[in-house]
Amino acid sequence: MLNEGVVNVSYIIATILFILALGGLSNQETARRGNWYGIIGMTIALLATVLSENVSANYDKLIIALLVGGTVGVILAKRVQMTQMPELVAILHSLVGLAAVAVGYANFMGHGSGFSGVELTIHDIETYLGILIGAVTFAGSVIAFGKLSGRIGGKPLTLPGRHWFNLALLIGAIWFGREFVLQSAAGNGMEPLLIMTAIALIFGIHMVMAIGGADMPVVVSMLNSYSGWAASATGFMLGNDLLIVTGALVGSSGAILSYIMCRAMNRKFLSVIAGGFGTGGGSSAAAGGGEEQGEVVPIDSQETAALLAGAKEVMIIPGYGMAVAQAQHTVYEITKALRAKKVNVRFGIHPVAGRMPGHMNVLLAEAKVPYDIVFEMDEINDDFPDVDVSVVIGANDIVNPSALTDPDSPIAGMPVLECWKGTTSIVLKRSMATGYAGVQNPLFFEENTRMLFGDAKETLDEVLKAL
Ligand code: NDP
Repeated sequence: MLNEGVVNVSYIIATILFILALGGLSNQETARRGNWYGIIGMTIALLATVLSENVSANYDKLIIALLVGGTVGVILAKRVQMTQMPELVAILHSLVGLAAVAVGYANFMGHGSGFSGVELTIHDIETYLGILIGAVTFAGSVIAFGKLSGRIGGKPLTLPGRHWFNLALLIGAIWFGREFVLQSAAGNGMEPLLIMTAIALIFGIHMVMAIGGADMPVVVSMLNSYSGWAASATGFMLGNDLLIVTGALVGSSGAILSYIMCRAMNRKFLSVIAGGFGTGGGSSAAAGGGEEQGEVVPIDSQETAALLAGAKEVMIIPGYGMAVAQAQHTVYEITKALRAKKVNVRFGIHPVAGRMPGHMNVLLAEAKVPYDIVFEMDEINDDFPDVDVSVVIGANDIVNPSALTDPDSPIAGMPVLECWKGTTSIVLKRSMATGYAGVQNPLFFEENTRMLFGDAKETLDEVLKAL
């Protein structure tokens, strides 16, 4: 059994390690170290909590819960495919929300001891907010999971008068909050708490249902942030400083990420929440994809290899299809072969490429692509006029010129990688299907674009062989 002082010192050490973890994760070179800081910090936090004076009995139940949770976690982490990571992240956020709701109810039902007067009111507000944020996070994350895994269509749900509906839900939540605090002082309060939980669940579902395919990156980071605030609220309920700080770290870093994603997509956070941007989510041109706009010029692997070998400047633009095809290792083999021929190869990464923030960076790091040839969109977008060949690997929305030219496009205003300004673009994909936002891509019909149809891994293997 650890005394309070030791627990507090352990919590401070864990907090410092979490901050170092975030610092480490902000850079690819230090990400692995950052992960270790996080793992060690979480181990210290868990041990200090389990061995603290607050936990005096029921070790058997605790150990069973840890074993069950740990086993499920290990199995999931081992089984999950890289392409399923975004939906796994979404469902994990939902668990944080659910935990906050469960802790809130457990806390409320056992609050008889200790609190009275103003303290009770403050505690009740903490409980109410914790359950509210937890329920919104839970419901929103379950819907996000459905959308990211394709179980729910990506089309935004636009109910008539949806802003009024949201406003009514908000007013309802505030009203029942007042009721809850008043009734709780008299020893009741379960009814308004249950009604608010239902309101929060409906709000969470409606909020994410109203968001279109193209805005999903912001939703993923926003729910990440909410899960942090839900954990923080749980910390307030339980009087646990570490949980408050850790939740705030997750909440604020998620909020910063949402801001970065909004800026990357040239969107205002409030209009994302209001929903309705990006129609699709389908992967066929028929699914809201718009008309095809002319002739496409196909190319084969041999010709692609010849073009690449003859180039001086090559830009590789990976997208979600590279993750699907698991083509990152072959991409790096091709990069090495070209660099051996003195071709300057760089990677251009769009901030929303793939299906989660940093998706492409993770894949390229896995394939051991050196970080110094991987560039953010802003760093290289002006260089395309000097690029001989851009290789677009399973990317679509992030190289769609209509985002810049067509004000009616569902992705209008989103900055994109302007590869069409180079000499030749080679687009690798299996068909003429649209990307996540469900819009047709005029790039495919440009004069200097060549389409290399097929699974990206298979076609790149052939290109590598030809090289
Ligand atoms: P897109 O979804 O726009 O396009 C991917 C393309 O890859 C498809 O057109 C598909 O065409 C092709 N493809 C799929 N499988 C393969 C394969 N095995 N081999 C070759 N090609 C393949 O992806 P982008 O990365 O360009 O853009 C990301 C989109 O996802 C944006 O709309 C973004 O808003 C959204 N999004 C991003 C998130 C994030 O956090 N990064 C989160 C949620 C959504 P075909 O079927 O013809 O092969």
